[in-house]
Order: sequence, then structure tokens, then C-alpha cells
Amino acid sequence: MLGKMSPICVITFGCQMNEYDSEVMAGLCAEAGWTITDDEEKAGVILINTCSVRRHAEERVWGRLFALKERASREPDLIIGVCGCMAQGKASEIARRCPHVRLICGTRAFDRLPSLIERARRERGGVIDVGEGSLPRLASPPRKRESWLKAFVPVMRGCNNRCAYCVVPALRGPEVSRSGEEIIAEIRLLASDGCREITLLGQNVNSYRAARRDGMQATFAGLLGEIASISGIERIRFMTSHPKDMPDELIAALAGLPKVCPHLHLPLQSGSDRILEGMKRGYTFGAYRLLVRKIRDRVPGIALTTDLIAGFPGETEEDFKRTLGALEEISFDGAFIFKYSDSEGTAAAGFIPKVPDEEIARRHGILLKRQGEIGLAKNSALVGQAEEVLVEGPSPRNPGRLFGRTRANRRVVFEGGERLIGTAVCVTIRAATPLTLLGEFRG
Ligand code: SF4
Repeated sequence: MLGKMSPICVITFGCQMNEYDSEVMAGLCAEAGWTITDDEEKAGVILINTCSVRRHAEERVWGRLFALKERASREPDLIIGVCGCMAQGKASEIARRCPHVRLICGTRAFDRLPSLIERARRERGGVIDVGEGSLPRLASPPRKRESWLKAFVPVMRGCNNRCAYCVVPALRGPEVSRSGEEIIAEIRLLASDGCREITLLGQNVNSYRAARRDGMQATFAGLLGEIASISGIERIRFMTSHPKDMPDELIAALAGLPKVCPHLHLPLQSGSDRILEGMKRGYTFGAYRLLVRKIRDRVPGIALTTDLIAGFPGETEEDFKRTLGALEEISFDGAFIFKYSDSEGTAAAGFIPKVPDEEIARRHGILLKRQGEIGLAKNSALVGQAEEVLVEGPSPRNPGRLFGRTRANRRVVFEGGERLIGTAVCVTIRAATPLTLLGEFRG
């Protein structure tokens, strides 16, 4: 019989919010007495934290679930659980297609996860909790962090926007901001544990609003100011900012608070006004361009990254060329470029005409190639310069070297001793690839 000594393995798909949720899931289970393992083979409970934002992400989860079927038939006590966005939106489909899944826990039911695992252990049938009507618990939860040096801290949950391609508002519910006091308390605790870099998370941090004890409304820029005063925290990052409501005070915080890193993720999605309107993004490319000029004027050298979608329904060759032109004109430091795919329950799923898959792949390939060239040119321009690098650990691809990030969030790989891990060092950039800088450290 499966007991608490049988460890739990949490597998994460998707965004930073999911990575954070997985740390909370592991933290809640550890607090309830379970051991946590990274070794899926040794686990008696496998929790898959899922993502529904793109069809590709869902396909990977389905593949993983089908692959676990044979092991589930060999190990009748094994509990396979599906958590997060797919669990929230597709509970009945998961139960139908994967009867070997014994637990389905939606985005609004995380705080009940340990008791749900207990129930799945006792009851042989499947346990489903998608938390209908309830909101996720927002108070600082226990968490089992992946890194002692860096941490994600959500400042809000959900989203009030209605971008036509996005399933997040349906799955994560309306926007709810955490109280500033709670966020500050959590970050103070992280700082006292040695954490030096935090990334504040929210679907749209620009619309963060929380009532303060003095009766005023706390804004995100105000929150950044308070966090910047916490000693021990050296780098503050945040994502995501919606371009339609980027307030001047947030640009001022980027410009004026030294701990706030000079990097902004500002999803453009398309360079065509017609497509932006269809996406319900609420801005034109002209407005985006003006915003970028303002940001670059106020914060010289800031790294700008973005999201782009290739092949949104109705996207013509002309629309696509506008996106390619926008990518070249803005000259992004990095871009996540996605192939459009229908997400069930979104407005865009019903839009026609669809762009054929081969054409989406062609446009996606062109955008990726061009962004690679721009990324390489931008990184190459840094060769010879000295950069402050916060050293995170061994390079994942080359464990004999160290890996870290610059303040502008550029990845740097260089030779150095383990004693440098956790420190900020000055590295001279010697060579560049589109995504990584190769540096030299002289201690
Ligand atoms: S802002 Fe748009 S894309 Fe971002 S989470 Fe909200 S609805 Fe989705």
C-alpha cells in the first residue's frame, strides 16, 4: 500500500507561473509529510502541472500521460495526478482518455492538493477537484524552491483582458492582486534565506492594484519601490506588462530604481493593426512604437523582449510582412515566437479563415531566423564589454563551466570555480551566439 514514504515527483510544463505553482504544490505536500523527489522512476505519486496556452504544450502533456499508462498498469498503487490549466479546463476529457489518471486538481484547488492525494490513495476511483466557485489561496504558501538564489513571487492571479487567442482568463479567473504587505513579508523571508533575485509574476502586472492600510491604492510601481528597499535583494525583475496600459510611473521605476533590472518583456503579438484589432489587444503598432521610444529614451540600454504569433486567423502575407517589419524596426533583444493554434474556448478558435499549417510554419520559420540574426548582432555588440553576472550554477549544457545572467537577463557561460556560485561577478564578454554570451572571468 502506498504510504507517505513513497515520494512525490512534480513535473512542470509551461510558464513561470506554473514553475511557481509547482514549488507550492511540492511545498504543500512536504508540509503534509510527503517526501519530494526529482526522480520520476522512484515516485509513488507523479503530479503533472500542465499548460493549456498552446496546442503544442497540451500535446506534450497528452504524450506524457499516454506514456505512463503501461507503468500504471504494472504499479496499481501509483497515483498519477494532473494539475493546473489542463486539469481546470479539460477534467472530463482527461478522465475519459486517461482512466489511469487518479487525481485531477485544477488551478483553484491547489491548496487542497495534499488531502486530494490522500483521497486518491484511499479511493480506487478518480478524484477530481477543479474548485468551481473558489479562488486560489493567495496567502504566502509553503513552497519547495528550485533555487536558493532566485525566486518567483506572484503579485496577482488571473486576467481581466480578453485577448482573442488566450485561454488564461477562462482557466485562471479574473484578476486578483495580492496585498502589498503579504508580498513584502514573503520577499523579506526569501531575502533572509539568501535569495538575491526575485521575479514578480502576473498576467499583467501593470494593472496590479491593492488596497493599502492607509486607505490608498498600491500600484505596481509603488510596490517595486518598497521591494527595492529590502536589504539582501539585489535584482528585481517582473513580467508581464501589457503594452496598452504601461504607466509612466512604471517607466520611472525602471529608470530610477537601481535594483530593478533593465529588462522589459512587452508582448507585441503582431505588427499589423488589423490583426491586433482581431486579437483584441487594445493598441496599434504605432502606439507600441511610441511606447518603445519613450522607454528607450528614459532607460537607455534596456533590453526589450517580446512575444509574437505567426498565422493568427485571417493573417495575410501583408499582415505577416508588417510583423516581420516590426520585429526588424524594434530590434528586440529576444522574442518568443509561436505558431498560432486554436485553444478551445477562445474567441479566435471560431475565427476564419484559418492560415494553413504549412504557411504558419513558413512564417514562423522566417520570424525565428530573422530574430536569430538580430539576437546575434545585438549580442556580438557586447563583445569586449564587462558585464555584471549573477552566477546561478554549472552551465546546464556544459557542467564544467558556470552559468549566470546579466542584469539585462542575457545568458552568460564562462570558466570559473564553484565558489563563485551565488555571487555577482564581473565577466568580460569574448564571444556571442544568438542566445548566449561566452565570457571570461579574471578573479
Ligand atoms: S493579457 Fe491577454 S494574453 Fe495575457 S493573460 Fe490576459 S488575456 Fe491572456
